Amino acid sequence: RTAADEVNALLASYPDFPQDGILFRDLNPVFANAQAFKSIIDALVTRFSGTFDAVAGIEARGFLLAAAIGYAADAAVLAVRKGGKLPGTVLTEEYDLEYGSARLELEVGQLPAGSRVLIVDDVLATGGTIAATARLIERAGYVLTGVGVVLELAELDGRSRLGDADVHTIVSV
Ligand code: 5GP
Repeated sequence: RTAADEVNALLASYPDFPQDGILFRDLNPVFANAQAFKSIIDALVTRFSGTFDAVAGIEARGFLLAAAIGYAADAAVLAVRKGGKLPGTVLTEEYDLEYGSARLELEVGQLPAGSRVLIVDDVLATGGTIAATARLIERAGYVLTGVGVVLELAELDGRSRLGDADVHTIVSV
């Protein structure tokens, strides 16, 4: 089975979570299946092979992807965290969510200037989260070379907020 088959088979959907009107897609069953998890990691590593020096995971489910991709691809791992959790000198971006608003942060000076960075997350919804992360990567002096996502909610058109980035999603619904 392909990575897309695995995701389609295991993806769960929850109406009205975390609030009314939101159809929440739960990818935890994909992470919880060893074969499916390996399949999505392999698919993203293969798709972006040779294009990145570091992989940036967005808190929290993006961390799970970034760690495995970094290990498999011999790449460095960056943690893009929600506001207020990182010490030292941090860059901050505010952004709007599908529900509410939020803040993401990145510590400066972790990679050489010009490092090629792949951003990964579980879900691309409105694109605000990844767009904010892309701004952090560029403000930190790195080059965004790709965006890898397990599930894209196409009707929200998050791609339109990601400029000309090389975006790959395993499944689009
Ligand atoms: P966006 O900023 O693209 O609107 O939202 C993407 C972020 O919100 C991701 O970090 C993702 O984890 C979370 N998110 C938004 N909608 C969903 C959803 O239906 N399911 C899951 N698992 N996460 C979502």
